[in-house]
Amino acid sequence: SPVIGVLALQGDVREHLIALAAADAVARPVRRPEELAEIDGLVIPGGESTTMSKLATLFGMAEPLRERIAAGLPVYGTCAGLIMLADKILDPRSGQETFGGIDMIVRRNAFGRQNESFEATVEVAGVGPVEGVFIRAPWVESVGAETEVLAEHGGHIVAVRQGAVLATSFHPELTGDHRVHALFVDMVRAGR
Ligand code: GLN
Repeated sequence: SPVIGVLALQGDVREHLIALAAADAVARPVRRPEELAEIDGLVIPGGESTTMSKLATLFGMAEPLRERIAAGLPVYGTCAGLIMLADKILDPRSGQETFGGIDMIVRRNAFGRQNESFEATVEVAGVGPVEGVFIRAPWVESVGAETEVLAEHGGHIVAVRQGAVLATSFHPELTGDHRVHALFVDMVRAGR
């Protein structure tokens, strides 16, 4: 089975470890740059992207991660993790940086205040209908030519893929349905 890390600086790490194990991967938390050498793929969890950005810099993970992703490491980001994988954020907090990996522009907290958290069925290409849990979720404002749109909700892009990098605005790790994680595990297997 492929070894898949979960970036464990901040966010819902545990839920991803459980979902990955259920999808037949060997899952482990990753905090230090040297641990990047031991993984075939990486999940960036939901949480708070500004905090994650600061901690990644503090732990010396930002630059090594940027390089590994650019070199083709398969990565899956949910919610804040999607933000971390965007080449560009529309409304970054000052000093907020991303790892990049997907040619897209992302809007943070896009679904608005009165709707900060909600669930909706989302049709994900290649997976089928998925129960989407959205928590202060971003949406993808626009994508480049190489970026594949996998799902939309309310006319906004909420799941994308570019090569070996996958990202969703919502949190499949919170639903007990492991099909999106299984898709990512397949992408990691294909990359080995
Ligand atoms: N709003 C958060 C951010 O900007 C993301 C929320 C989440 O990951 N559930 O990072």
